[in-house]
Amino acid sequence: MADLGFWTFAAQDPGALALVTPDEQRFTRGELAARGNQLARGLAALGLARLAPEAGDAPASLRAPDDGIPATSRVDAGADARSFAAEPSLGERYECVVPRLEVPHDPRCESGEPYPACRWQLPGAAAAADLYVVWRNTTPEHRWGRPSLVALVLATAREYQARWPGEHLTIGDLDAPGPRHQTHDRGVDVDLYLEHAMLDVNDGGHAYVENYVGRSDDEVRGLRERVMDLARILATCARGRLRIYYNDPEIVTPFVAWFAEQGLESDVGPAMMMHNRLHRFHFHVTVPEDLAPPAPNAETEPGGTE
Ligand SMILES: [Zn+2]
Repeated sequence: MADLGFWTFAAQDPGALALVTPDEQRFTRGELAARGNQLARGLAALGLARLAPEAGDAPASLRAPDDGIPATSRVDAGADARSFAAEPSLGERYECVVPRLEVPHDPRCESGEPYPACRWQLPGAAAAADLYVVWRNTTPEHRWGRPSLVALVLATAREYQARWPGEHLTIGDLDAPGPRHQTHDRGVDVDLYLEHAMLDVNDGGHAYVENYVGRSDDEVRGLRERVMDLARILATCARGRLRIYYNDPEIVTPFVAWFAEQGLESDVGPAMMMHNRLHRFHFHVTVPEDLAPPAPNAETEPGGTE
C-alpha cells in the first residue's frame, strides 16, 4: 500500500512549493522535510543569539587604507588538491579597507540623493582584478545596492583574499527582486559564497552536494575556519550591524559567542541564525538601511554611470 505521508511527497518532488509563511518565506517540500531535523538545533542557536552582548570597545571599522590590493595570481577556487590550513595568514586583525576600484553608480548619488535614486553597482569580476568572483547566476542588473552595502562587500572581499591567499569570496545577488528571492529589494541584502568551504556545494540545477562528507576532521576544521573568518570580517566591517543566515550550528554557536565577546550588537536581529535549507551553501547577509558608509578614502573611487 502506498505511503501518502509528507515524507513520501517530499521525496517524490522535493522542489515543489509546500508552504508560504506569513512573512512570505517559501519552503519546498524538501526544505520542510529537512527542517524537521534542523529545528532543535536552530532553536538552540536562536536562544544563544539572544544573550545580551556585553558593552565594550567598538572594533576596528572601515577606515583609510595603508596599501592597495595585494597582487595575487588567479588560483582555481576548487577544493581539490588543497591543504586546508586551519589558520588564516593574518591572525585576528581585520582592516576593513575598501579597495580601489571604479564603482559604477547612479549620477544622482552626486547630488546627494538617497537610495534608491543613488545606488552603486558591484564591479564585475574582471574589473575587480580577481579580488572576488561573481556568482554564476548573478546578472549585472542584480549587482546594485546601497553604497554602504557595496562598500562593505568590497572591503570584505579584499580582506578575505588577503587573509586566505589564492582564495576568493564569491559575491551573489544584491538587489534582485523577483522569483529567486523574497527580499533583496531594499539595497540591504547580499548573498555571499565560499564555494569550496561551506556546508554544501551548489552544483546548479538544484543539485546540492554535502561538502564535508568524506573529509578528514582536519580538513573540515580548516573549512569551518574560513567560514568563521568570513563571518568575523563581515561583523567587524559592519560594526556588528548585520544578520547572517547560515545553517551550520558548529559556526552559529561559536560565532554568536565571539560576537558578544567583542562587545558587538546587531540592530537587525541575531548576528547569525539558521534559516531554510538553502542557507547551507551561502551566507544571506542583511544590514540596516542606515549602515554607516565607509570613511572616505583614496581606494574608493566611484566612477562611470549606468
Ligand atoms: Zn539572499
